[in-house]
Amino acid sequence: MTLDLIRRAEAAATPCAAEAAALDRHGAFPEAALGRLRTGGYLAAPLPADLGGAGLCEPERVAALCSLLTAIGRGSLAVGRLYEGHVNALALALRYGSDDARASLARDARAGHLFGVWNTEPEPGGLVLAEDALRGAKSFASGAGHVTRPLVTARLADGRRQMLVVPLAPGERADLSAWRAQGMRATATGRVDLTGLRAADAAQVGAPDDYARQPFFFGGAWRFMAVQLGGIEAVVEAHRAHMRATGRGADPHQQARLGRALIAAESCRLLVARAAEAVAAERAGAERIVAYVNLARAAVEQAGLDVIALAQRSVGLAGFLEDHPLERLTRDLATYLRQPAPDYALTSAAAYALAEEAPLPALWDGLESEQR
Ligand SMILES: Cc1cc2nc3c(=O)[nH]c(=O)nc-3n(C[C@H](O)[C@H](O)[C@H](O)COP(=O)(O)OP(=O)(O)OC[C@H]3O[C@@H](n4cnc5c(N)ncnc54)[C@H](O)[C@@H]3O)c2cc1C
Repeated sequence: MTLDLIRRAEAAATPCAAEAAALDRHGAFPEAALGRLRTGGYLAAPLPADLGGAGLCEPERVAALCSLLTAIGRGSLAVGRLYEGHVNALALALRYGSDDARASLARDARAGHLFGVWNTEPEPGGLVLAEDALRGAKSFASGAGHVTRPLVTARLADGRRQMLVVPLAPGERADLSAWRAQGMRATATGRVDLTGLRAADAAQVGAPDDYARQPFFFGGAWRFMAVQLGGIEAVVEAHRAHMRATGRGADPHQQARLGRALIAAESCRLLVARAAEAVAAERAGAERIVAYVNLARAAVEQAGLDVIALAQRSVGLAGFLEDHPLERLTRDLATYLRQPAPDYALTSAAAYALAEEAPLPALWDGLESEQR
């Protein structure tokens, strides 16, 4: 079942790549791609079998989920971003939600609702939950106007944060006016003011501050890295295709650049797969898992920046023209590489290694499940 989902995702990603150029405009949204994911059963797939899904959030399926996110990201980073948000919201609901919340949110996913996680917020003006009502907004919320079941975090009077899944109608409360971004234009990333919504109409997920529990919180970065890997592969593929089409691949400088790009992509693939396994297995302590995921984050960010620079130098000016596939692929990847606190990801991994007594080869031992 899961293998079949991945095979079909590869096929579903092909039209995404073809559609991506037409969707590269402010205010666009990949309706057709989301429609294909909906009818293909991908919106329910993260749910366990007893809730009507394919169990993609279960630890033993982590490699399948990783491949799926990469395949979708390879076709379109915008679609990958939206699907990753959907999976993240359901993963949080499945992990922390009560049986009733899990059942009702699973029903919504099966009915085709798109989920997302909206945590980032404007300062001042962030989301507050007081006297059973929400006040304030979320910013950089992807799928705004299309995500009808966002999982949001809202600050309580004591400063802790509560997860809630709020029901929204299509188009409701979405303000996309500020999303005039260099790339990732088709993600409908905007500001959503949720003032006045009643908590009683939302599904509460978990206890206050469950959202920030480790290693699931920082560890969950493996999913966006899996999508970014798809974007990295798409850039390297466009680079390679250009070398072949122009007959310039025999030049040693061109070969060296493509070789370095291939190393970057393959290093990311290995790191992301291991980070995903480490988070799913939860075998090591939270601090060690998070340190490894942060290390992978820093590596993937650098690899993404490197493959962009290598491809642009190899292809030259043609890669900056709108009719060349590389032009949009590099803008989308450069934009999607921006994730929270990248400096902290690198330095906190280094700080972990400095504090540990274990010799270097043992530092990351035993992260995966014992079956490996
Ligand atoms: C396409 C796209 C879609 C998104 N969709 C969503 C969504 O649906 N939901 C959501 O919640 N968010 C979303 N986001 C937002 C995302 O989660 C991050 O919040 C955002 O990308 C952070 O990027 P930033 O570069 O502003 O990060 P920052 O963390 O502000 O980093 C910018 C720079 O400042 C440094 N820095 C960070 N903190 C400090 C500090 N305290 N002191 C000094 N320097 C610091 C960093 O290391 C970096 O160099 C989306 C982002 C993108 C690109």
